[in-house]
Amino acid sequence: MNQFDVSTFRQHFPLLSNRVNNLPLVYFDNGATTQKPNIVIDTESEVYQQYNANVHRASHALSAKATLAFEQARAKVQRFIQAEYLEEIIWTSGTTGGINLIAQSWGQKNLKTGDEILLSHAEHHANIVPWQMIAEKTGAIIKVLPLDASGLIDENGLAGYFNEKTKVVSFSHISNVIGKVNPVKKIITLAKKYKAITVIDGAQACAHLPLNMQTLDCDFYVFSAHKMFGPTGVGVLYGRRDLLTAMPPYQGGGEMIKKVSFLGTSFNQLPFKFEAGTPNYAGVIAFSASIEFINSFSLAELAKYENLLTTYCYEKLKNIKAVKFVVEEKPDIGVLSFTVSDSHNYDIASGLDAYGIAIRSGHHCAMPLMDYLQLSGCIRVSLAAYNTYAEVDFFIDKLTLLIDGNVDEVIVEPPRREES
Ligand code: PMP
Repeated sequence: MNQFDVSTFRQHFPLLSNRVNNLPLVYFDNGATTQKPNIVIDTESEVYQQYNANVHRASHALSAKATLAFEQARAKVQRFIQAEYLEEIIWTSGTTGGINLIAQSWGQKNLKTGDEILLSHAEHHANIVPWQMIAEKTGAIIKVLPLDASGLIDENGLAGYFNEKTKVVSFSHISNVIGKVNPVKKIITLAKKYKAITVIDGAQACAHLPLNMQTLDCDFYVFSAHKMFGPTGVGVLYGRRDLLTAMPPYQGGGEMIKKVSFLGTSFNQLPFKFEAGTPNYAGVIAFSASIEFINSFSLAELAKYENLLTTYCYEKLKNIKAVKFVVEEKPDIGVLSFTVSDSHNYDIASGLDAYGIAIRSGHHCAMPLMDYLQLSGCIRVSLAAYNTYAEVDFFIDKLTLLIDGNVDEVIVEPPRREES
């Protein structure tokens, strides 16, 4: 494999040559969603133009072709995350969809009054609210794991949070604000000791870390295609086969049944039991193209480049006196969160937008984390392998201008609003 060449890589992403406010777009909001390469856009379009038909329904040629591509995508995901069995891969609408499925299906069947669900202070709302909803229904209690100074789930005293009532431990592999890899193995080992299930939110990890479900040995792992150059509206729920088999369906409808009569219904086998209704097959097939695209460059090569770029950006930001990182340590992936002394986060974000630089300000769907850190919000720069050193330089230059108050007339005053 040749050394990673960012300019070749960028050429695959048509949107990156767009201009914003008459300046070249600098897209630094990859933690929210990544841009899509031509192969993903073309694959989705090809499905609709060449073989659009509902999957698993009909005997005709179009449906057979769509079904084959849809199931091949499942096998591709199985290999990508090294799951033991194909039927452990369930299609969802995204990370949020996956966590809701687990909470409602596993939780409704297994949780009872007084049982404990462990989350951490650094969770995305998608890994808090579904648990609150099922806790309310079942009488289970949520306990929250503290963080250490580097923003990770604190390993000290961790064991003290576990007891025989602990039934679920659900946490992010990498927080979307902190950008550091949690001590996953240690938490999984502890959870096993107490026979609690582990649910890992891999939304931020899936595009940056090689995943191996068999060595990780968690019970559930969820992630979203759109964070890894894939389409929106597609996600993956990995679950251990024995657990999925024992779980009741989450939603009812077509495809998830074996037999329906007014006397009762029997359910389909895995994975279809959890895939009621027409799936987003065009998106799933396009997602398969995004995995192939990543593999063709190698995830490790992309991560290596991202890491160098992140270090570069981190060091530059560190040299700006007014910049206060949310946690001091360099993140493990290209997620850099900070505030700027004497400036409103939104003013910085909209000031940068006037220069065509897309970053994010607000609570990042992590309000409890903001409370924990005693922040009203923060600014997040999130990098991907198509970002360049020149873009980082441009961003640092414009951020410095804004901090120094040397704003040119290019800046327009947008309506004031805190982004979520
Ligand atoms: N968890 C984390 C850590 C995330 O970063 C995100 C997306 N920002 C989600 C969950 C939710 O993902 P989705 O909106 O794709 O369901």
